[in-house]
Amino acid sequence: MPILEIITIGTELLLGEITDTNSTYLARTLRDHGIDIYRITTIGDNPSRIATAIREALTRSDIVITTGGLGPTVDDPTRQAVAKATDRELIFQPNLWEDIVERFKHYGHAPTENNKRQAYIPDSAIPIPNPVGTAPCYVVEVGDSCVVSLPGVPREMEYILHHSIIPYLSQKYEMKSQIIKATVLHAASLGESAIDEKIADLEEMANPTVGLLAHPGQVDIRVTAKAGSEVEAQALSKPVVQELLSRLGDFIYGQDEETLESIVCEHLNQASLKLGLFEAGLDGTFIARVKLGQPDSIVTQQSDSLPASLAEFEKQVTDYCTQNGCDIGFGTALIIHENVTVHLVYKSAAKTRSKTRKYGGPTGYGPLWAQNVGLDFLRREMIADIQDQKIGES
Ligand code: ATP
Ligand code: MG
Repeated sequence: MPILEIITIGTELLLGEITDTNSTYLARTLRDHGIDIYRITTIGDNPSRIATAIREALTRSDIVITTGGLGPTVDDPTRQAVAKATDRELIFQPNLWEDIVERFKHYGHAPTENNKRQAYIPDSAIPIPNPVGTAPCYVVEVGDSCVVSLPGVPREMEYILHHSIIPYLSQKYEMKSQIIKATVLHAASLGESAIDEKIADLEEMANPTVGLLAHPGQVDIRVTAKAGSEVEAQALSKPVVQELLSRLGDFIYGQDEETLESIVCEHLNQASLKLGLFEAGLDGTFIARVKLGQPDSIVTQQSDSLPASLAEFEKQVTDYCTQNGCDIGFGTALIIHENVTVHLVYKSAAKTRSKTRKYGGPTGYGPLWAQNVGLDFLRREMIADIQDQKIGES
């Protein structure tokens, strides 16, 4: 695989006035084409420091890409630096000058004498058309290596990268397109650090990589594989996904697009169960969330007042379930005082289970946390009942 170094040019980058998004974009794009990125450097608008950086990069890499510093002003130093680093003169290219004049005409202006600087490129460089801006770009070939100079403006840089540079590099070097495939497992009722402890060794892997992303009351485990085809990527991920499933068991509630509410409702509907939802302190958000999963049979009640205790809430949920002839009654009451607490009640013909949970995170996340914790409690208790053939049609 060819080796690439990126040099972004501009004093504003060094001063922190603009953020270097060009190198991130180049790295991500070219990595997916099977190019190895070894180094990213940022240099101010100083031709001799840029020339030194390019010369050094050429001793280590096949491809050196610069961005920025191609404008028409004296402080746009890239052309001069590339000429110096590759021991060439800057040569005036009448064709490029004509293109520049044409572009200016198109915008209804005349180019200034300054713009003429942009028609000078290093001797025997290959000019690259820039239909989206004025600065001409070029490639200078040095033996088997090359220096590619692209504009600083991200939109122009991206356009030329895709339209000219990737095709050029693909011809010159053996590049293998890579695809990246992610599988996401969703876990609940087990915190990020507890998961981390169980799967730490898998998180050290290089391909696929395994990473955690915590949300309130729920954690995503992302398995990302890189390969030449979707089938290869899948083959790399599969054993790791299976290992995660076996280590985390029923803490994993779903995969990819699946959500807690879709899983809960799938079980409810399959077993033809009628659910009675009783909610307090959540502004109807728990009920709305369950409805997103499209339950076939549901009745709901939003209570205006918060229960004084878990025992009182259990009675309210049980009564509501009985009065409405439900197979399952489920209650969620969110109480935000000094801290965030949720009362949860599950009621079926087989059992009544209730518990109170406390949340340590920011109060603003309390409702989302309560929804996730509640939905997962409902999922676990209901699945256990269905598996034990305590409720529902089998
Ligand atoms: P121009 O002909 O427009 O002057 P140029 O190739 O000389 O193009 P620069 O003058 O270096 O490019 O940069 C133009 C603008 O592009 C900067 O003001 C900045 O907004 C943006 N830019 C430059 N380099 C980067 C970078 N590495 N990441 C993100 N934006 C950049
Ligand atoms: Mg400029």
